[in-house]
Amino acid sequence: MNTTVANIRVLGIHSLIMKKRKVNFFDIQEYITGLIKKKGGWVNCHAHIDRAYTVTQKNFHLYHAVLSEKWNLVDAMKRKSSVNDIYDRMAVAVENMISQNVSALGTFIDVDETVKDKAILAAMKIREKYKKDIKIIYINQVLKGVLEPKAREWFDVAVQFVDIIGGLPGKDKGHEEKHLEVLLSTAKTLKKMVHVHVDQLNTVTESETELLVKKTKEFGMEGKVVGIHGISIAAHPKHYRDTLYKSMKKAGVMMISCPTAWIDNRRSEELAPTHNAITPVDEMVPAGVIVGLGVDNICDIYVPHIDGSMWSELHLLMAAARFTDIEQLVKIATVNGRKVLGLMENSSNLPIK
Ligand SMILES: [Zn+2]
Repeated sequence: MNTTVANIRVLGIHSLIMKKRKVNFFDIQEYITGLIKKKGGWVNCHAHIDRAYTVTQKNFHLYHAVLSEKWNLVDAMKRKSSVNDIYDRMAVAVENMISQNVSALGTFIDVDETVKDKAILAAMKIREKYKKDIKIIYINQVLKGVLEPKAREWFDVAVQFVDIIGGLPGKDKGHEEKHLEVLLSTAKTLKKMVHVHVDQLNTVTESETELLVKKTKEFGMEGKVVGIHGISIAAHPKHYRDTLYKSMKKAGVMMISCPTAWIDNRRSEELAPTHNAITPVDEMVPAGVIVGLGVDNICDIYVPHIDGSMWSELHLLMAAARFTDIEQLVKIATVNGRKVLGLMENSSNLPIK
């Protein structure tokens, strides 16, 4: 990335343009990014950097495929990628983060029968190369689920390597409970945290966060479980949402918001309370739920238009959730992220490598 782009991200575009002009206004970007810097820099809680920068002119149209199709559409690319290819993509993404003053990054990496252990091998080299510049936390993505024997085999390999156990109950549709049981029992045995993609489709028919809270309590994993997205929560009635937030707070279930990832939610005729397709941060934070920030997919067929800018994500969160509590926004971008990644001193995430 060139210096000008990096400066704009860090300083705010207005401060550069208006240096010579006598116009004073509250430059929110400059103010907030300044506070974030004082808190030790950004924390990016969610990404898939092993697949970053894989969008091409040829595969760009696949963006319009539905999510469950995309889980397999990336197979050919995963098969073809060498460890070096994956390393290079991860390196660009990590350098993108470092250029923005990101101090810690939590990223999923695919480990399954298609990509096998190639992303693990690349991830080890990446961690070594950038250890002085950024703390990287790895989480395993389970695009093949965790229930089929072959999928389970690779899940068992992945969990030995990663810092946090990753989940995607939607992949084991109809068996979401079983999927969560595998994650939580494994995490409990290995004394690791759990990050789970939940409630992604912005529909009242989903209630995966509710199930995640129930299972967290069942396994005694309070304070060690994090949901990712939670978009569908806002499609439920207010009493459901309020009850859910209370139960999340009680069970210490945290949430990661990746604003751009789902703001492109498809038009639907389903009736629901009016809302933007974003984690309901404006309700969760006042209810005491810990929320962190992530970028999710960077320039791949899932979301070709996410470039990894942390400010863009926080800015969209602020706008789409109409959430302007600056103190809390700074926490979302910094200290909450460290809690979500198990990086606090009194963290429940025990073995961070
Ligand atoms: Zn994700």
